[in-house]
Amino acid sequence: MLKRQVSAWALLPALLGLASCQGSNTVDDAKLRSADQDTGNWLMYGRTYDDHRFSPLNQVNEQTVGKLGLAWSREMGTTRGLEATPLVENGVLYTTGSWSVVQALDAKTGEVRWTYDPKVPRERAYFICCDVVNRGLALYQGKVYVATLDSRLIALDEKTGSVVWTAATADPSKPYSITSAPRIAKGLVVIGNAAGEYGARGYVSAYDAETGKQAWRTYTVPGDPSKGFESKALETAAKSWSGEYWKTGGGGNPWEGVAYDPALDLLYFGTSNATAWYRALRGGGDSLYTASILAVRASNGEVAWYFQTTPGDNFDYDATQPLVQADLTIGGRARKVIMQANKNGFFYVLDRETGEFISGAPFVSGVSWATGLDPKTGRPLETPGVAEMKPVLVSPGPDGGHNWNSIAFSPATGLVYLAAKSGTQFVHAPDPKFKYNPDSNNLGLDPTYDGPLNAKMVSMPPAKGELVAWDPVKQQAAWRVGYPSLVGGGVLATAGNLVFQGRADGILAAYRATDGMQLWQFDAGTGIMAPPMTYTVDGTQYLSVMVGWGGSPALFNAPGSGTVKPGYGRILTFTLGGAATLKPPAYGHPDPPVPVLTTTAPAPVVHEGGMLFNTHCAGCHGINAVAGPLPDLRYSNKATLEGIEDIVLGGKRASLGMPSFQKILDAKQVHAIQAYLITRTRESAKQVQSK
Ligand code: CA
Repeated sequence: MLKRQVSAWALLPALLGLASCQGSNTVDDAKLRSADQDTGNWLMYGRTYDDHRFSPLNQVNEQTVGKLGLAWSREMGTTRGLEATPLVENGVLYTTGSWSVVQALDAKTGEVRWTYDPKVPRERAYFICCDVVNRGLALYQGKVYVATLDSRLIALDEKTGSVVWTAATADPSKPYSITSAPRIAKGLVVIGNAAGEYGARGYVSAYDAETGKQAWRTYTVPGDPSKGFESKALETAAKSWSGEYWKTGGGGNPWEGVAYDPALDLLYFGTSNATAWYRALRGGGDSLYTASILAVRASNGEVAWYFQTTPGDNFDYDATQPLVQADLTIGGRARKVIMQANKNGFFYVLDRETGEFISGAPFVSGVSWATGLDPKTGRPLETPGVAEMKPVLVSPGPDGGHNWNSIAFSPATGLVYLAAKSGTQFVHAPDPKFKYNPDSNNLGLDPTYDGPLNAKMVSMPPAKGELVAWDPVKQQAAWRVGYPSLVGGGVLATAGNLVFQGRADGILAAYRATDGMQLWQFDAGTGIMAPPMTYTVDGTQYLSVMVGWGGSPALFNAPGSGTVKPGYGRILTFTLGGAATLKPPAYGHPDPPVPVLTTTAPAPVVHEGGMLFNTHCAGCHGINAVAGPLPDLRYSNKATLEGIEDIVLGGKRASLGMPSFQKILDAKQVHAIQAYLITRTRESAKQVQSK
């Protein structure tokens, strides 16, 4: 009798016409909306539309996690940063690597099913601020969607990896790029773009998922008023700008993901800083809708509401960090909220129907640019004098109290888990000679500044990296766990009462979600930025993470500084009892560099070379030429140093991703950079020897 009852229950989904999670082969709107119940798959960037990155799987739990071991690993063919969240549908894992390359792997064994290389022209690296990364994909109706570094949106057949359609989402003559994962919303694929530092007008576009035809486009900053405003919202925004703002493009780029609430039919995204970084260089004003969280209607892209986290941003406080939705009871009221741990150091809880500010509080220590938030409006109480035309030392620095790294919300604990950086500092010195240059980045930072704030910054206590469990109702930390590196990667929470996180020193760790006790760790041999994710195949739980150091964190935490580990990019997959081993090949430079050339350049030339290097080269090759995502130039051989002009101006290595800089540098300047590199090699050789 009991058996018959069980079978009747088992038949119920079929009787009601519901497809079982494992049975349906197509990811459709219904499947995406109920992704939470599809426990074995991971169908979306943040797993569900609310982007909780919380898995109900619990084979791996606080009791069993000690037995977690490597099941398989696969090389991604790169020594650059990996940031993607893999997706899994019915035993196939889809992920992205350097240069927007897509791979489909057997989720159980790691065998490659297919690879798609969009062949991004390597010279596009010129317009990419922070490494040739990609954060992930979207799955829908038998297709895999990827957006590329050269701003194409491409639909691939999920079985073969062949191209179904391609849409150019940006004018290829402009410096746009895309590193974010597309978002599916009721038959549309929605995607933003990056370029806030390069002077290009931000926007989000939606495309028909079947055909690739553009459905709508919403700009985030106003354009040239003489051409008319595209919407009332942009006309309003224009009043918050000064001068001929449209000539620099404005910025406000939505460079991270887009969130979606299917019940409200609203899309949410954050926007970057304005061009240039400094308010005084823009002539003042709030610069709407930069450094803001926006909600737009999925049907037509119309702006429903906005909330500007950093009005008149002066510190590169992009509001592009992940947005997480939840239904919380706050002050006795049920609220539909959207939450963000912002670069500016404050954790925001907003009403996601209206954009109303509910609460905000600093989640890192040492925030110095503002003294707090207005309790009613959430507008920051800016520290007086901090945004004037003069150098200022400010915390957090441009990499923020938190950046793009995914955060997780556990409905079981009610806590948000995130990587935080407390006490990062930066000297912001607006350049009085700043002139917009469409062929360069346009921060507006004075490269010649050499004042006392530099020494003050060095004397400050070192910044701290922590995994923080944040209570969004109380707006306070439930617990914090420090780690030896400043940068922690993205986070996964599970019903096993666990939180998983990798970090810059190559450690992937599991913590108890309720109190932060570390229960397990694995040394990946290379820095980790990407978030772990979890799934099942044939009833067995697996946990996967992309490992590989680079991206924006490498600009401020270069390999070789502190505990950061450079290395080879891989995907690692774990399971209970997994016994595979990982032998990371040696990478990096254990010994000091050996000088191969001498320079007779006078000190002022070397100094100029240093300024030029930190302005134009450090984005990839590291501040003060200490590594970065790319090879450490202090270790350059003689032929490279002697042939620097052919490389930097002649584009000799363009096919490797080193574009020509002939539009912004001349031969004399390149030789100053050469003198600087030779000098840095000699200094580094001496420093290490004297340790
Ligand atoms: Ca920025």
